[in-house]
Amino acid sequence: MKIKVSVNGYGTIGKRIADAIMKQPDMELVGVSKLNADYEAAIAVRKGIKLYIDESSKENFKKAGIEVAGTKVEMINDSQIVIDATPDGIGAKNKALYVSMKKPAIFQGGEDADVAEASFSALCNYDEVKGKNYVRVVSCNTTGMLRVICALKNSFKVRKVRVVLIRRAADPREVKKGPINSILLNPVELPSHHAVDVKTVLKDLDILTMAYVVPTTLMHVHALMVQVDGNPNREEIINVLESSRRILGVSKESKIASTAEIVETFRDIGRIRYDVPEVVFFEDSVHSSNGEIFLTYAVHQESIVVPENIDAIRAMFGLKEKEESISLTDSTLGLLRGRLV
Ligand code: NAD
Repeated sequence: MKIKVSVNGYGTIGKRIADAIMKQPDMELVGVSKLNADYEAAIAVRKGIKLYIDESSKENFKKAGIEVAGTKVEMINDSQIVIDATPDGIGAKNKALYVSMKKPAIFQGGEDADVAEASFSALCNYDEVKGKNYVRVVSCNTTGMLRVICALKNSFKVRKVRVVLIRRAADPREVKKGPINSILLNPVELPSHHAVDVKTVLKDLDILTMAYVVPTTLMHVHALMVQVDGNPNREEIINVLESSRRILGVSKESKIASTAEIVETFRDIGRIRYDVPEVVFFEDSVHSSNGEIFLTYAVHQESIVVPENIDAIRAMFGLKEKEESISLTDSTLGLLRGRLV
């Protein structure tokens, strides 16, 4: 029996999650719900995805000639779980509807942590959300940090973590966001909310983050500094990271030293939308001395949370054990392991 899933909010994250659900052998996409009768709605229908809307937008969709399958309430009614991928803050407003219809839901990182019973990162706390009805997949930056920290925690005793986040200003399709010619301290004060978000999953971690926004749309970059017990050498650290799921290394010899070249590589290997759900670290950035580990990695904001949403469904319903779910998600989505190039 396949679990019936719907996606409320069909934008950057929602459309990728919908595609991923259609690739899972144990899931069925009931449909997606969208507010605006725009190009994304038209393409969803062209791809054979059932589109559900609010009663109040019926006229707009009719005018645009976009075929709809029914109302959002009908979609949710027909689902066993809803993935909410609406813009920041809207998910919390939608929660009352899910609760009143007795439907479990997964929220995204733009919502405050208290929207859900637990925040989720597949590598870090898969088992914690079993049996929960409301779960939040942490943001793109937090998902990236948690993957790397939990991979290191599996092999080393982590004492403290410091991260400088260099964040992309906008997603490629967002035409109204900036800055377009500035480096923005966002936020100015420390710690940035990212440290707080990491602690929704790793509650006792000593972590501090600083964040900046730069005029690029491709990926975020994090400069990570971790203090551990002992003095692991860089080969050990690279090996730990490349042995982990959802983390890929790029070699010095590949000559990749930028987000642009990572994206170009994924275009070359034919990934849909050049998505990079793996964290990509630069092997040559790994440095270790006196128990301090330094490394730099990139996070593709548009796709990194997609595998986590899929695993969260299985974890909540107790459908599969952690390793089995992660392995199934990774193989169906074609995620790579080890060294990218
Ligand atoms: P988006 O703006 O690209 O997409 C949101 C979609 O929801 C749009 O299609 C919009 O029309 C639709 N929508 C708006 N109000 C709605 C409503 N009331 N009912 C149904 N649909 C509605 O947003 P996004 O970037 O995909 O972000 C969604 C969530 O994912 C946010 O919580 C965000 O913080 C989080 N997130 C975003 C990124 C990213 O880089 N874009 C990364 C990780 C997590």
